[in-house]
Amino acid sequence: MSETIFTKIINREIPADIVYEDDLSLAFRDINPQAPVHLLVIPKKPIVSINEIEESDRELVGHLYWVAGKLAKDMGFDQDGYRTVMNCGENAGQTVFHIHLHLLAGKPLGWPPYTDKMKQA
Ligand code: AMP
Repeated sequence: MSETIFTKIINREIPADIVYEDDLSLAFRDINPQAPVHLLVIPKKPIVSINEIEESDRELVGHLYWVAGKLAKDMGFDQDGYRTVMNCGENAGQTVFHIHLHLLAGKPLGWPPYTDKMKQA
């Protein structure tokens, strides 16, 4: 499969503001933050989208949520609250085809996370 920009970040071929790394995953700051804290938690394995998650990946995907919770506690926003989002495909606006958990925090986050204009579409 084709390599994405996230593989380049994993391989240190392009810079990123990395906040966490272990054998299975990497977390770094989103280049275009949508909240005061906007991190991306990714597996090192390049899974294209939620549609390509295999049975053998279940523990790995769960690991991403464990990392998100750890970062929330380590960075001190676990009690204030935060949001995790994984977009899948065109209607969700997925732009990088290597799964990533958005971790948004640092302010009250609106819900639902789309505009009235989009709702009518
Ligand atoms: P999505 O639209 O769910 O596929 O999210 C992709 C995210 O990756 C967007 O929020 C982008 O701002 C972010 N992004 C793209 N390139 C980079 C990069 N080089 N470093 C950090 N974040 C990036």
